[in-house]
Amino acid sequence: MINYTERVSLLMADLVERVQPLSHIDMRRVLVFARAGRTGTDGAYATCHCVSMPPSEPGYYFWRDRASGLLTRRSEWFVTRSPEVRVGPQAIEYLISFTLPRFCDQDLSHTRKRAHYVSQPGWVAKLDTIVHELYHIDPTRAGIRRMERADGTYAANCHGRRFFEDVVEMVHAYLDSRPDPAIYDFLTHDFGGLTARHGGVAGTTFRTYPSYPQRFTEVLSPQPPPPPGVDCRVEPLKVPRATARFTEDDLVMREFGADHSRQLVRKGRYQAA
Ligand SMILES: [Zn+2]
Repeated sequence: MINYTERVSLLMADLVERVQPLSHIDMRRVLVFARAGRTGTDGAYATCHCVSMPPSEPGYYFWRDRASGLLTRRSEWFVTRSPEVRVGPQAIEYLISFTLPRFCDQDLSHTRKRAHYVSQPGWVAKLDTIVHELYHIDPTRAGIRRMERADGTYAANCHGRRFFEDVVEMVHAYLDSRPDPAIYDFLTHDFGGLTARHGGVAGTTFRTYPSYPQRFTEVLSPQPPPPPGVDCRVEPLKVPRATARFTEDDLVMREFGADHSRQLVRKGRYQAA
C-alpha cells in the first residue's frame, strides 16, 4: 500500500531544498495528514492549517438594550487558542491536509491552472497545489501568509493574483532544477492507477478522524474582573469539549477507497503490547 501523506512530505522536503522562496520552511515542523474527499465532488484538494498562533486576546459576547444602549448581559471571558501538536520532542507549527482520493485525481484539464502550464502533463496540477499550500506558510511569523497588494494594503483573503503567479513560477523553478523523478512519480498516477500499482492508498490521520487539531474556545479560569464600567448579568459560556494536545500517539494510518475509508491496524511494537 502506498503511504500517500509520507510521499507528499518527502516531496515537500525536496521542494523546500530546491525552491528558494520556500527555503525558510522547516519540514520537521510541518505535519501532512489526510482527510476524506470524494473525486468529482466540490471541495478543497488541500488546506494549510496553522497550529502555532498565540491565543487571542480575552473577549466576551454581550447583549445590549436597544433603547438605552446599555449592556444587559454578557458571557464569561474566553480566549481562542491553538491546540498543541507534537511528534516526539518536535513541536508542529503547521498541518497540511490533503483530501483523498480527490487530490490524487486532480488534473490540469478543466481548470484555470491549465493556461499556466500549457506544455506540462496533467499531474502538474497536483504539484501546483502542494507548492500552493507550502507558500501559505509565513516566513516572518507564525500564521498564514498575507499577501500585500501593490498599494501596500493587504488582500482581503490570503490569496490574490500574485499568490497564484508566484506558485506557478515556483513549480517551474522546481521542475527546471531536474529533481529525481522517483520523488514525484507518485503524482503522475491517479487514484485508480495508484491502487492498481500498490494495492491501496493510505495516509496519516488523527485518531479523532474525521476531526483534527483546530483552534478552540476556552473559558478563562479564574475569570478576570468585569470590563470597566460594565455591571451586568454574566452567563456561562457553553463550549464544545476540544482536545488541547495531540502527540504521535494520536496519529493512525487510514486506507482510503473511492467513497469510504478504514483505520489500519498498527503493526510492530504496538501490536506486541
Ligand atoms: Zn490557498
